[in-house]
Amino acid sequence: MKTIIIGGVAGGASTATRLRRMDEDAEIIILERGEYISFANCGLPYHIGDVIPERDKLLVVTPEKLRTTFNIDARVRHEAVSIDPKKKSVKVRDLSSGRDYTENYDKLVLSPGASPIVPPLPGVDLPGVFTLRAIPDMDRIRDYISEKDPQRAVVVGGGFIGLELAENLQHRGIEVTVIEMLDQVMAPIDYEMAAMVHQHLDFKHVRLALGDGISGIAQNDALHVSLQSGKTVDTDMVVLSVGVRPETSLAESAGLKLGARGAFEVNEHMQTANPDIYAIGDAVSVKNIISGKEVNLPLAGPASKQARVVADHIAGKDAAFSGVQGTSIVKVFDLTVASTGLNAKTLEQLEMPYRCAIIHASNHAGYYPGASPMAFKLLFAPDGKVYGAQVVGLEGADKRIDVIATAIKARMSVFDLEDLELSYAPPFGSARDPINIIGFVAGNILRGDLETIEWKDVDSINRDEYAILDVREPEELAIGEIENSINIPLGELRDRAKELPRSKKIVVYCQVGQRGYFAARVLTQMGFHAINLNGGYKTYSHAVCPQANFDTFEHVSISSREEITEKIPFNPATSNQFEVDACGLQCPGPILKLFEKVKEIDVGDVVTVKATDFGFSSDVGAWADRTGNKLLSLDSDEGVITAKIQKSAAKKAEESKGVMTQDKTMVIFSGDLDKALAGFIIANGAASMGHKVTMFFTFWGLNILRKDDPPKVKKNLIEKMFGFMMPRGAKKLTLSKMHMAGMGTSMIKGIMKKKNVNSLEELIQSALDNGVTIQACQMSMDLMGIKQEELIEGIETVGVATFVHASDDSNATLFI
Ligand code: FAD
Repeated sequence: MKTIIIGGVAGGASTATRLRRMDEDAEIIILERGEYISFANCGLPYHIGDVIPERDKLLVVTPEKLRTTFNIDARVRHEAVSIDPKKKSVKVRDLSSGRDYTENYDKLVLSPGASPIVPPLPGVDLPGVFTLRAIPDMDRIRDYISEKDPQRAVVVGGGFIGLELAENLQHRGIEVTVIEMLDQVMAPIDYEMAAMVHQHLDFKHVRLALGDGISGIAQNDALHVSLQSGKTVDTDMVVLSVGVRPETSLAESAGLKLGARGAFEVNEHMQTANPDIYAIGDAVSVKNIISGKEVNLPLAGPASKQARVVADHIAGKDAAFSGVQGTSIVKVFDLTVASTGLNAKTLEQLEMPYRCAIIHASNHAGYYPGASPMAFKLLFAPDGKVYGAQVVGLEGADKRIDVIATAIKARMSVFDLEDLELSYAPPFGSARDPINIIGFVAGNILRGDLETIEWKDVDSINRDEYAILDVREPEELAIGEIENSINIPLGELRDRAKELPRSKKIVVYCQVGQRGYFAARVLTQMGFHAINLNGGYKTYSHAVCPQANFDTFEHVSISSREEITEKIPFNPATSNQFEVDACGLQCPGPILKLFEKVKEIDVGDVVTVKATDFGFSSDVGAWADRTGNKLLSLDSDEGVITAKIQKSAAKKAEESKGVMTQDKTMVIFSGDLDKALAGFIIANGAASMGHKVTMFFTFWGLNILRKDDPPKVKKNLIEKMFGFMMPRGAKKLTLSKMHMAGMGTSMIKGIMKKKNVNSLEELIQSALDNGVTIQACQMSMDLMGIKQEELIEGIETVGVATFVHASDDSNATLFI
């Protein structure tokens, strides 16, 4: 049996060697147009970046080795020009000699791969503009870098190869701009997961344009890249990495039909419509095992598995390829980005109902050194069947995605994930592995124990129907918060739940979703309709913040960012240096550790924090900003983020809490009805926005708090006189102006009723219900002979220092 294989890299070479193992007598010929056979195309970007310094390491096998070890006739620089299916022959051109000849076959295998898409735009053929597919492309890029010493590169396309190139070019000291047409990089993952990659690219000094494509390249001194938006970038080199197109130029002569994305159509044995012609790899469309749809998936794994099926089938075995699910992984600087199965975008396009769970978990026990976080999204059917997963993290992301990939293949459900028994010891995992945890979350959702809301729906909810509850600790608010949310830390929730409006649904959030879930359970069991924010504030904040940094660096180079960040000189001789090791701590752990340290040290001292939670790289800047401390430097190396923070004397009030507060304090001095109304309207408004409000009533203001029917209390004559002359409670107050012997006051009360404005008594009650702290000044009470028993319930009697302390912690004090 004579088999000709067209294409001698991932699919072709694997077919040949497997076939030899199955059939020692087979005649096997590989025709490879290029100079190299079975090279590691996945390693090309890393040789460009000098991460794999030895070029030879990419050349896995030579024709000589194939001949001596496997008795395979591998002909490089031999191109298959056409196929005659009737005669079962291939016309071959020897590219070295220019000679054409014909080779007959019994079986023909097409593994011609795909070719990089080059958009038909002006300037794409200019010197300095490249694509990357094979060894010669890589050599050209490397030679150009050696000869021209480019300082700037534009990578067009933010997919796997584009981002690998961005990283590797930067590794060579080249400043990189990535231009991506979609609103996100890495199309296989969903937007909120890609958002973390966007922020990591920014952190790694990659300039990123999203939602923009190139419209042409011109050459003057430099290469001048025009974007569809009208923006331009000057650069020294361009790499086009906008996707690949199946290489199917032989289809016509072979009389073969093309399917999804213009790829060869095949059956489960990888046979085309002609049973003697097989096709595999990047050039075919195959069934997606989840959706049942035909897809073209240009990845090395499926190519090599299809190769095995074909070899076995040619050798007489009943081998079949079961389909693909799209499992992929890529390193983007310090991050690992992995996915399997269908993402939300695809599920929506296919109109397949789905649910999702997002968690932020550690790769192994947090107490064992080196734990690192991962964002983990699981997509599943309403009946629990696992549809897909995405992980953005550091170590351990690959393991989790592979477990889910296996679960999908085994048609498991989220309920199976809950009780999968996975290996555990502290250096490797947790007793409840992130796989189990995401199974629990998904199971909770499907069993109705947990209702979730997605980050993209939060900003558009109707605040008349929903209140937003933040259950993080006050120190965490410096990282940022969802606008107009009420902050009640989880530990205080049972006591303070009465501050929440019963009439509204409560959207609960914490930093990563776990405390939010606990809080949602507490509230649900108290009768509230509680909904947890999927992925917590971490997912929300990554997704809602600006994603592209292209415009920020219009006039300055992104790699000179340090120079534009104000650097605070500090004298190591006078500044004490402290270190905080927050590696392994999940967000908000690193921020809380930093906060604790900053509280202990003196102004001018410097803390160096090391953390592995990649969210810390953006959180620490926000925290420093809001607390008035100075971020001196921020860097990362192999997944460890190092931030240097100098304690600043600024924002004294905030230092005591460590956060920029939104608290409000008021001194209510007046006992006039209109002023009291104004005070309580403001207090209720601020409280409803989640701000802590303290009202301090002194002198005439104390009358507002008096009961209209007080119990009898012992008083001396002067106290009795005072008590008699002053208005007793809110009902008795009068207007400061236009009282008109009581007419004006009655009129305003009438109008308020007609217009449905709450009375002062109702406003006071609602302030108390909303958690407003109402303080009565002890000193004024003594002077005016007002006793605690005469005041309405819920009032604290305090000295002035207590109020001053609250005022110190607030960002505004009103005097009424
Ligand atoms: P190829 O391996 O491309 O082989 C096709 C060969 O056929 C080519 O050498 C071509 O010259 C030859 N050929 C075409 N037409 C003819 C003809 N008429 N006559 C003779 N020869 C012909 N995949 C992953 O899964 N993970 C990764 O990390 C990854 N990284 C990648 C990085 C880069 C830079 C590139 C370019 C690809 C990467 N891939 C990766 C994709 C992976 O390399 C492909 O999916 C895989 O090589 C496909 O195998 P194939 O046999 O279909 O095609």
